[in-house]
Amino acid sequence: MPSLHPSLKAHVSGHAEDRPGVYRWLGEDGQILYVGKSVRVKSRLLSYFREDRGKIARMMGEARDVAWDYIPNEFAALVREMRLIQTWRPRYNVQHKRKRRYGFIKITLDLAPRIIPVTRVAADGASYYGPFGRVGWVAEAVGDLARALAIRDCSADTPVQFGDQFEIFAGGRAPRCMRGDTGSCLAPCAGRCLSADYEKRVDEARAFLQGHGQGPLRRLREQMSEAAERLDFEYASRIRERHERLEKLQHYLSGFRGQIENLRFMYRVPGFRGNDRLYLIHHGRIRGDFPAPRSTPDRNRIRARVREAHRGYAGKAALDLDANAAAEVLLVANWFNRKPKERERAVAIEAFLAPPDPRVHS
Ligand code: SF4
Repeated sequence: MPSLHPSLKAHVSGHAEDRPGVYRWLGEDGQILYVGKSVRVKSRLLSYFREDRGKIARMMGEARDVAWDYIPNEFAALVREMRLIQTWRPRYNVQHKRKRRYGFIKITLDLAPRIIPVTRVAADGASYYGPFGRVGWVAEAVGDLARALAIRDCSADTPVQFGDQFEIFAGGRAPRCMRGDTGSCLAPCAGRCLSADYEKRVDEARAFLQGHGQGPLRRLREQMSEAAERLDFEYASRIRERHERLEKLQHYLSGFRGQIENLRFMYRVPGFRGNDRLYLIHHGRIRGDFPAPRSTPDRNRIRARVREAHRGYAGKAALDLDANAAAEVLLVANWFNRKPKERERAVAIEAFLAPPDPRVHS
């Protein structure tokens, strides 16, 4: 076991307190090795010095310093820990905590937009839908959606020219993959469709993923009936499986959207030594952190700050998320699922912002 700087333990013993907080173990040159949280920072930090094997002992062998911040409550400590890990990606958090991967469905901004599964969200103006915990399942469902609507899912560098661009594209061309030949893609790579027709299919995909369109399911049902009429029961059965997966996909998206939209309130949390906090939670994300008001003038001041913060987020769509935001939403949702009684501390944002009733004396 590598020896530790002896003053480090003394520093923790002499200065840390047993209260909620987030801590950082630091290595040579101050790089962050590990971020953690605890409701009792001092006890937790001292426990690291007792480890003599395994990954914690290895990390402690590299540790040269430790820093901590007190956080008023466990909820805030959980969120702060996650944000620090997202920002700094400390080596021992990344190596030893399996990072959960989320899948998203992306509709690209190409001339003929593609629909593809991705695991990262980029600020590229494309539309993203998710997150989904089961990456492989999403990839399969995206393939089903692309086929149901005959939208392309080929690589970004596939040249496309629509049928209405005939002056550039005289004579036509063979599709660049089997999907064009089998009719499961409108084949804009071969000029086989008009741009307006292709765009209509993309609009159907968007409507479906936003939960207010049934286009792909209807098309699959039509294909199923046609296959059954031809007595091609094997094909009909494959289409039925696709239909089931797409129904599940839409069901998941609408359930998740509903859950996020419900996570929208002011949440008051008692804090260490009376440092109570008030969190503005909008669509599952923490959009504001305020001291809980203690008097009427205090409440008026905080109300003005909450109103200002809320203005910036009120119109945002529930599923307008990048990967970090998705992780935060899932963390907040998980907190209230694990601790349903905490919802009793929540007040509707509108109720909090409403002017006080002059008939009620506070
Ligand atoms: S048929 Fe053409 S446009 Fe459609 S997926 Fe294949 S290569 Fe892409």
